[in-house]
Amino acid sequence: MIKIITNKIQCRHCGDIIESTYTHDWKKCSCGKVSVDGGHEYMRRSYYKEDDYIELSESREYTQQELDEIEERKRQRKEENEKLFYEIMTILDQRKQKEAE
Ligand SMILES: [Zn+2]
Repeated sequence: MIKIITNKIQCRHCGDIIESTYTHDWKKCSCGKVSVDGGHEYMRRSYYKEDDYIELSESREYTQQELDEIEERKRQRKEENEKLFYEIMTILDQRKQKEAE
């Protein structure tokens, strides 16, 4: 898995350096020939020709510690969702019981 550190390119036509810093941060250069998007989630480029821009992004492999942290966060989120689901089901059950009385 690749961690995106900076998501940026330089336009070869106008010389602008444009960087996307968060997921839906869509940036266009001043001449409008190239754009970047995706922040640290994905690297989307739009251009007329592949050599319209110079790639300036930095990325690297995730370290094992970072991967562990991501897994841990996923696990916590799953637990929270299950807890929330259980609470909602309990409320719905109680409501049904009241209606039946
Ligand atoms: Zn440009």
